[in-house]
Amino acid sequence: MKGEDGQRIRRYTGSDAQMRELAAALRSGSLVAIPTETVYGLAANALDVVACRRIFEVKGRPLIDPLIVHVRGPEHAAELAYLGDDARLLMERFWPGPLTIVMRKRACVPDIVSAGLPTVALRCPSHPLTRRLLSLCGLGLAAPSANRFGYVSPTRAEHVEAGLGELIDYVLDGGPCDIGIESSIVSLADPERPTLLRPGAVSANELSSALGREVFLPLPREVGDEGPVEAPGMLTRHYSPATPLELFAHGSVPKAGALCLVNNGDPLALVHFARPAETYSHMEQQGVELFWLSESGQSAEAARNVFALLRRLDEGSYGRILMEMAPSGGLGDAINDRLCRAASKR
Ligand code: AMP
Ligand code: MG
Repeated sequence: MKGEDGQRIRRYTGSDAQMRELAAALRSGSLVAIPTETVYGLAANALDVVACRRIFEVKGRPLIDPLIVHVRGPEHAAELAYLGDDARLLMERFWPGPLTIVMRKRACVPDIVSAGLPTVALRCPSHPLTRRLLSLCGLGLAAPSANRFGYVSPTRAEHVEAGLGELIDYVLDGGPCDIGIESSIVSLADPERPTLLRPGAVSANELSSALGREVFLPLPREVGDEGPVEAPGMLTRHYSPATPLELFAHGSVPKAGALCLVNNGDPLALVHFARPAETYSHMEQQGVELFWLSESGQSAEAARNVFALLRRLDEGSYGRILMEMAPSGGLGDAINDRLCRAASKR
């Protein structure tokens, strides 16, 4: 199968002529994969219902899962949503950056974008290429992560090509993503209860101190709840490799001997959070290969690496992936949120 225009995907690096072509493609209803500081997004004109429907088709994403709209800044946001003082404060403090803000939507935002909710999620990304594209095309860009629904999010242009190369025409290559996991999402839908719907690089504490009051965590969804999900990132199984993934709490990776017992003969990938002080040369002969998320044990580095490593291991022939979680707090909580969903059973 080929992309929308019958050609294989084109990877552009951002020359002036390419950027003009991409802006024109977006204005005429095509999809373009774009780099952001969090993960790569699959972008379309947010006010074009047909183009937005293509996003859902290409991703295999259920229509109950609303999209984030990427904007140039607060004034552009005000064209799509009703901004209160809290929203302006957060935009001033965290935009451009990895914070998505859910607000009451204006009538121009189509239902397909908001999954029928009265709210819309807006973010102003900081990646310079995508900021240029937003200015050039003059549109709000609805953009969920540029991967098949439920799979590991893409943090490099190659990941987009591997997953969607046959289905879309363009990927704008902005290099590896700086942050590597999706934006924090805060909902201001209930003015009395600012709520962190998805953890990310902006923490609940940072949001609380910017707002000068408590930021809540979402109430757990009851089993069997129907209707639109508050935040699709909250679906339990998400970001998942095909290879079974099992997690260890931070600091509790079993020693080599114990591992050989759990390894039933299949090659096994053992991922430490930080590069281990000692490596065990006998492990490879026993079918255990060692990896780590961060050289230095920093959550920022682990966040940048986690999705790329999961993809790489998924392409290998491992029977299982065993992974140590991040230390809790700050970005570690956001990494662990993604790991728990990635490891969750179907
Ligand atoms: P992704 O699946 O990574 O593309 O993320 C899209 C995100 O947009 C989801 O995690 C949703 O939480 C969020 N989102 C979009 N619109 C809304 C909305 N109206 N209310 C709450 N969350 C939203
Ligand atoms: Mg996603």
